[in-house]
Amino acid sequence: MRIVPVPCLEDNYSYLIIDEETGDAAAVDPVWPEQVLQAAQLEGANVKAVLTTHHHWDHAGGNNGMKKLLKDVKVYGGVKDKVEGCTHPVQHHDEFPLSSSIRVKALETSCHTKGHISYFVTSSDPDDKPAVFTGDTLFIGGCGRFFEGTPDQMYESLCVTLASLPPDTRVYCGHEYTQKNLEFALTVDPKNEVLVKKMTWVQQQRKDKKATVPSTIGDELEFNPFMRVDKKSLQAATGKESPIDVMAALRHMKDNFKGR
Ligand SMILES: [Zn+2]
Repeated sequence: MRIVPVPCLEDNYSYLIIDEETGDAAAVDPVWPEQVLQAAQLEGANVKAVLTTHHHWDHAGGNNGMKKLLKDVKVYGGVKDKVEGCTHPVQHHDEFPLSSSIRVKALETSCHTKGHISYFVTSSDPDDKPAVFTGDTLFIGGCGRFFEGTPDQMYESLCVTLASLPPDTRVYCGHEYTQKNLEFALTVDPKNEVLVKKMTWVQQQRKDKKATVPSTIGDELEFNPFMRVDKKSLQAATGKESPIDVMAALRHMKDNFKGR
């Protein structure tokens, strides 16, 4: 299984998930169909499916274009999100094959939108680590805004559903927001050494114009404040005690943090 990020728009990521044996592939959130298919061609991949994380235009807005360019492409998306061009609506825990060796499991991770889906992808090759495509729910070092949901839904999505995946699961998110997210994280969890170290690495990556994806679920649990809402440091930073109150307070602080 090979995963290829395709940068789109200002800071979005589409991805190709490729079965290296057969060339069968899926495109995650291909908002720029031509660019994504050009990348697929360079990789020798045949896109058979589109995996849509949520209905926002910068994620689902290329679906009809993909259908125009690829007859018979299957378009997956959360049943509650009514995504553009959807042919295969999915809900929590639906599973389907992408190829003979790659399987996909849909995980409902709602709050940013009410039917947001993260896709957990595994391969039968024992050398391949699993991967999860988290759209605008889990970012590296952060999370999406609560447009259509509540703090307890984001808690369920991040701290129950995604946190339960194997720690070595690679995390591929929908935007390159990492540096800004870690700037905020350092204001609420400044003594976290893993976070400080991650920031040094991220600054170098961005200086070199390199992507900061993927991280892993295990790493996010170490430095992402929104996945650490039960920790003393975050309780102290927010002045709240229950994980859901900490989640709400953190999001509020982040929404008012230097513009983003
Ligand atoms: Zn979004």
